[in-house]
Parts: sequence; C-alpha cells; structure tokens
Amino acid sequence: MDEITLYAYGKINLALDVTGRRPDGYHLVRMIMQTVGIYDIVTVRKAPDSHERISLTCSRPEVPAGPSNLAWKAAAAVMEHAGLKENISIHIEKNIPMAAGMAGGSTDAAAVIRAMNSLFGLKLTQEKMDAIAVKLGADVPFCLRKGTYLAEGIGEVLTKLPDAPKAYVLIVNPPFEVSTAAVYRELDGIEDPVHPDIDRLLSLLKEDTLDAFAAEMGNILELVTIKDNPLIGEIRDKIMSAGALGSMMTGSGPTVFGLFDEPQLARKACIAFSGEAENGRCILTEFIR
Ligand code: ATP
Repeated sequence: MDEITLYAYGKINLALDVTGRRPDGYHLVRMIMQTVGIYDIVTVRKAPDSHERISLTCSRPEVPAGPSNLAWKAAAAVMEHAGLKENISIHIEKNIPMAAGMAGGSTDAAAVIRAMNSLFGLKLTQEKMDAIAVKLGADVPFCLRKGTYLAEGIGEVLTKLPDAPKAYVLIVNPPFEVSTAAVYRELDGIEDPVHPDIDRLLSLLKEDTLDAFAAEMGNILELVTIKDNPLIGEIRDKIMSAGALGSMMTGSGPTVFGLFDEPQLARKACIAFSGEAENGRCILTEFIR
C-alpha cells in the first residue's frame, strides 16, 4: 500500500460550557461533541522521490500549505514518534467551513495520524494516538473518534455517550470569522454567566427524544459572540421560526445549526437561507455515529 484516503468529518457542539481555568490559562470545558456528515477528504502518500520530508497541497488556496497546517504538524509528530525516515505527501480536499467552530484543522490532523498508522503499519494504540493528538490541539483526540462524546478537561478527556437522537441538521456558516481566543477572553470578564445544564442534557440523551434534547441545548460562548455579532442571534431565531426543535452556535462561532425532525422543513429552510447572501453557506446534513 502506497497511499491511503480517509474522510475527515467535522463536528458541532450540542452543548458547550466553560467551568473554570487551569493555572496555565487554558479554559476548562464541558462539551457535548457530535460528528456530522460534512467532511474533508485527506490522502496521505509515500513519496520516495520527493525532496521534502512532508509536502502538502489543499484544494482551497486560503488553507496554509506548509508547517503551520495542522495536518502537516500531525505528520511531523507521527514521524518523530515512530522514527520514520520515509517522505510523504498529503492532499486535503477541503469541504468543512474554515474557522467556523467545526474543527476543520483538527479533523485533518486526526485523519493524518490514522492514515500514517495504517500506511506504515505502526500499530499505534489509541492511547498513543491520543497522546500525539492532544499536543496538536484539544479537539484532535475527539476527531480520532466518531459519534457523540462528552469532552471535559480542556476538551481532551472523552467519555462515549449514547448516540444523539436522529435529526436533520441545518448548518449556516455566515461569511466572517470569529477569534476564539478573543471570545474566551471576553467571557472571563462576564460575572455570573448563565451556564447550560449539561447534566440534564446527559440524562435526556438516554431518553433518545429529539424535541426535549434540542430545546435544552446551550453554548455559554453565545453570550459573547452573539452580543458582538447580532446577525448570529438573528440566524438562530430564523432557524427556530423555520420549524427547528433547537438551534445553537457551535464552538466560538460564527456557525449556527438547527435540529429538525421533519426532513421537508429542514430542506425548505436550507433553500430559504441559501437565497440570502448574508447567511453565507448553508448545508443540510445528519449526525454520524
Ligand atoms: P475548532 O472548531 O477546532 O476551533 P475551527 O473550525 O474554528 O476549529 P479551522 O477550520 O481548524 O477552525 O481553522 C482555523 C485556522 O487554522 C484557519 O484560519 C487556518 O489558517 C488554520 N489551519 C491550519 N491547518 C488547517 C487545516 N488543515 N484546515 C483548515 N484550517 C487550517
């Protein structure tokens, strides 16, 4: 085998709470993470004739193609860990919206770790892959997995949860970026923010009913991002008016999603949203288990 191609799925947060800060400044979180059916396609090839240890290309020119790409960093980390001498090339077909709270870079990095493990027969254990992943970013260990997980610590302490109830997921990605670091900084200045009830959501997951779960979802970062970007709140309200059972921002934004139980309503909403340029990109998808 000289090459391997993998799907690298994006994620949304079904809940996001910030519970404190570590002494080193990292925020402690409690998040319900969910894999969704939007994916990059990542190919890793052995490249014996290449003059570079790692070369990287991407279908989107705005994605960095050098050592600052998280997929490149993942390859370098695996090479160092396994003492690999061979050269490789990586190609990323980018579909996941960028800087959107959907873990686009993290999932490419996770795909490269998995691909190199198979391509070079490294037999890395899950623990070893997690240890490499967490050094690249707090979301990367989750991206080595699929489905519904509770993420605690800085996002790297993962507990498998019952699958989220079946839903039609409308994703709306407004065409501007939000600085995650700035959002967390601003949250630190808010006294007594309202926290989502993660424990209630965890017990609702066991009941497997979409309406109660969707209505209870919450993201503490909305307090900051929506205050600074009211369009996000407007999109959320419009998604609810279109018949969603719940709607929320993922990560630090700006992407908003809505959960529907009726596929026709979700499709109709997607068409309506796509007609307005200020909404950006609209995608209809489902949860991946
Ligand atoms: P998260 O949800 O984990 O916070 P995100 O979806 O908000 O991540 P990314 O799409 O990962 O954000 O992109 C953030 C920045 O990372 C981009 O602006 C880009 O410059 C850089 N980046 C590095 N590697 C990649 C990659 N493989 N794909 C996309 N962006 C990357």
